[in-house]
Amino acid sequence: MPKSSIDRIFDFPEPFCLKSTQETIEITLINHENLDKWAKKQDKNTKNQIDQSKFTAKAGENLLIKDKNGDISAILSGLSIPTHHLDGASAYNFVCGSFSDDFLNNHTFKLSTATANADHTIGSIGWGLGAYQFDHYIESKGVKPQLLWSDATNQDETLATIRSICLIRNLINTPANILGTDELAAAAQKVAKNFKAKVKTIKNEEDLKKNFPMIHTVGKASPRPPQLVDMSWGNKKDPKVTIVGKGIIYDTGGLNLKPGMYMRDMKKDMGGSAHALGLAWMIMALELPVQLRVLIPIAENSVAGNSYRPGDIIESRKGLSVEIGDTDAEGRLVVADAITYASEDEPDLLVDFCTLTGAARVALGYDIPAFFTNKDEMIEPLRKSSVTNQDPIWPLPLWDGYNKEINTPIADIANDGSGRAGAIYGALFLHRFLQNDPDWVHLDCFAWEQNGKAGRPKGGSDTGMRAMFEYIKERYAA
Ligand SMILES: [Zn+2]
Repeated sequence: MPKSSIDRIFDFPEPFCLKSTQETIEITLINHENLDKWAKKQDKNTKNQIDQSKFTAKAGENLLIKDKNGDISAILSGLSIPTHHLDGASAYNFVCGSFSDDFLNNHTFKLSTATANADHTIGSIGWGLGAYQFDHYIESKGVKPQLLWSDATNQDETLATIRSICLIRNLINTPANILGTDELAAAAQKVAKNFKAKVKTIKNEEDLKKNFPMIHTVGKASPRPPQLVDMSWGNKKDPKVTIVGKGIIYDTGGLNLKPGMYMRDMKKDMGGSAHALGLAWMIMALELPVQLRVLIPIAENSVAGNSYRPGDIIESRKGLSVEIGDTDAEGRLVVADAITYASEDEPDLLVDFCTLTGAARVALGYDIPAFFTNKDEMIEPLRKSSVTNQDPIWPLPLWDGYNKEINTPIADIANDGSGRAGAIYGALFLHRFLQNDPDWVHLDCFAWEQNGKAGRPKGGSDTGMRAMFEYIKERYAA
């Protein structure tokens, strides 16, 4: 029976095995600084092969070692300094590229390391991510080599990281004809079910119109109904952390229709919701001591006779009236209603992920999400978490002076700004919909790998999720 579209989203690469009766080939992870010392301790045959090769143990370099009979006896794989979570992907790709399917079916691999023990976990994470391909709709797939779990590997951390990142990728890569508003909500419910979290979906048209008017306004032109998923998990005694993610399953731009080249990849406009669910997965899988809530406002920004229009004045949950300057600035509308709702509950920390503005990409490129916070003292710890986890995010100012740019004489606020600082206007807009002044971080991210590299193929990708996980872990679990 073919898998359902939801099941395919939870189809994660797990190229690991507990034990093996097959012949096992050892992959030694080693970095440039350790190579000479390590090589001196090896037998002459191995040492000669290292000396005669170009292998210097830099990240991305791999070397096959053969025994005296010419049989493959080991693999050396270079590491970054410090070790990077994608390093193991290079070993995975090397193995796939070096051996026949027949060989892979008859051998397993195991890690050893000439560096710190912790590199077993990092190497295994990279190995798993190396096996990721969005191949759920392709019939024939190659053999995936298997890695034996080593005692030094933290299996929980390895699997939580791989599953969380691949959940983000699968959600984003699944196109909008398959992942509609109901399907995105169903995926969120499945995440909740996996961790026995409570979840409800607000979908009734009258309820949405009354309580979340901006989510309703943005989504009403699509035959696939707008909705809001509300998930909660954890111990009521722990601090409340709420994560909001923009879930626009497809963004045509609305009546301000996007030109073709800008619409092409707009299946990724639910990337914020994918990040929220991926981060929630990490938090729940590794049982951080927080009371977690996840809110996913879901809509499709479509064109129809009942589309909202440029010039419309619409209601919001907070009671502020919003003049629509541009129907393509829809993300901030749905997220603003969710942020108001989230902050009524007075969380200790409120995080939102949105693929919000092209201006954030002009400022920082594809790989670095811009972050904004209402608490200056959070900027340095957030930057530090980003460095620790090698997942770049960079602060932009929530500059009060630019609030004048999103003023309009005929409503409380406008959804587009007249100047050049689009990413800041987006953040200032969202800020106006907060209540009770919680610690708040807004990430304007791309959610897409533009070029592709080992362990991170072109397509849907995490940008900033691991930095936020590190921050939350440091803040609540250190
Ligand atoms: Zn848009």
